[in-house]
Amino acid sequence: MTNPFIQREERYGAHNYSPLPVVLTRGEGVYVWDDAGKRYLDMMSAYSAVSHGHCHPKLVAALIEQASKLSIVSRAFYTDKLGMFLERACQLTGFEKALPMNTGAEAVETALKAARKWAYTVKGVAKDEAELIACEGNFHGRTIAIVGLSTEKQYRDGFGPFPPGLKTISYGDADALEKAITPNTAAFLVEPIKGEGGIVVPPVGYLKACEAICRKHNVLMICDEIQTGLGRTGAFLASMHEGVKPDAVLLGKALGGGLFPVSLFLTRKEVMDVFAPGDHGSTFGGNPLGASVGLAALNVLQEEKLTERASKLGQYFVACLKAIKSPVIKDVRGKGLLIGLEIDERLPAHDVCLELLKHGILTKETHRTVIRFAPPLIITEAQIDDVIAALKKVLPG
Ligand SMILES: *Cc1c(COP(=O)(O)O)cnc(C)c1O
Repeated sequence: MTNPFIQREERYGAHNYSPLPVVLTRGEGVYVWDDAGKRYLDMMSAYSAVSHGHCHPKLVAALIEQASKLSIVSRAFYTDKLGMFLERACQLTGFEKALPMNTGAEAVETALKAARKWAYTVKGVAKDEAELIACEGNFHGRTIAIVGLSTEKQYRDGFGPFPPGLKTISYGDADALEKAITPNTAAFLVEPIKGEGGIVVPPVGYLKACEAICRKHNVLMICDEIQTGLGRTGAFLASMHEGVKPDAVLLGKALGGGLFPVSLFLTRKEVMDVFAPGDHGSTFGGNPLGASVGLAALNVLQEEKLTERASKLGQYFVACLKAIKSPVIKDVRGKGLLIGLEIDERLPAHDVCLELLKHGILTKETHRTVIRFAPPLIITEAQIDDVIAALKKVLPG
C-alpha cells in the first residue's frame, strides 16, 4: 500500500468500503484509466450508474451548458428545466407524476412515505398501523428505515432499532406475498431482478402474479428499478418484460447519465396527491442541473437505442460466458447487460476480481460468490470478447 492516493484515502476516509487496489483518474466510454496510465474495461459501471458510458459527450455538454447558466435554486421556485424532465420521464414510463430526489435511497424513502400516507388517507388504515412488505435478500439502500427492511445481517447489525411495520418475505414466491398481506398492508416493494442480492432473476410470471395479488388486496406494488431500469435488462423497465404495470417505480443510478445523482419516484396521480406542500422535500432534488442532465440521459438512451443494445449484447455476453469451460462456473444468469457469473465458493469471487484487474478488467463480486458483469450499455462485441479472453486466463480450465 505505497500508493499515496490510496494511503491518503485510507488515512482520512471512513473504512465503509474495501476498494480494489486501483486508482482511477480518467474515463471514456467503456474504458477507465488508472494513475499509471493503464487502461481497464469497466464491467461495474458504478453499480449500473454509468449505462451511457463514461463522460458521454452529449451529457457532458448538457451538464456544462446548464452549470454555466443556473444550477441550484431549490424547489422554493420554478425553473425552466424541471417540468420538461418530469414530463419526459412520465411519457417513457407511462406514469402520471414524478417526484425528483437525488440518490436511490431517497427515492425509496419517498416511495415508502407516499405508501404509508396513501394507506392512511386513501385506503383507510388506522393511524400508525400501516405495514410495508419487502423481499429477502433485497437491496434498496442504506437509510435506517431501508436497512430495517433488509435481511442482510451486516447491513443491520449495530444500526437498530428500526421503524415498526416492516416485513420481509421470500423472493420469487407469490404465495408468500399473499400470505403476508393484511388489511393494514400499504405496499409491496420489489426489485424485478435482485441486483446487489446476487443478480437473481425470479421465476417467469412472478411479477405478474404479484401485480394481481396487489390489485386484489388494494396494496401498492412498487418496483425498485434503480438498478434494473433505463434499459439495463434489455427492456426500458425490467417490469415491462412481463407487461407488468406497478403502481409506482423508482429510478436512479443511470438517470444521472453517470455524471450527477438524479432519482425519481414515479406513480399515478391518486398516490402522488397524498403529498401536500411541506410534507416532503429535498434541497437539491429537482435542481435544474440534475433535471437537464436527467433529460439528456433519457434522450440519449432513446437516440442510441441503448435498451435494444442491452438486449442484443446481453445475449451475446451470456452465450460467450456459457461457452467457457471451467469447473468452477456454477451458473450464468441475468437479463440484458445485468449478468452474474456464479462460481464455486471454494474460489473466492473477490480473488477472481483481483486477477481480472491485473488483466485490465474492472469488476467486483456481489454476494460473495457472484462476479458481476454490468458494463456501460454502449459496449461492443469486440470489447466483450476481450473480457471473455481475460476470464479464460483467470479461471481454472
Ligand atoms: C443502488 C440501489 C439503491 C440505492 O441507491 P443509492 O443511490 O446508492 O442510494 C436502491 N435500490 C437498488 C435496487 C439499487 O441497486
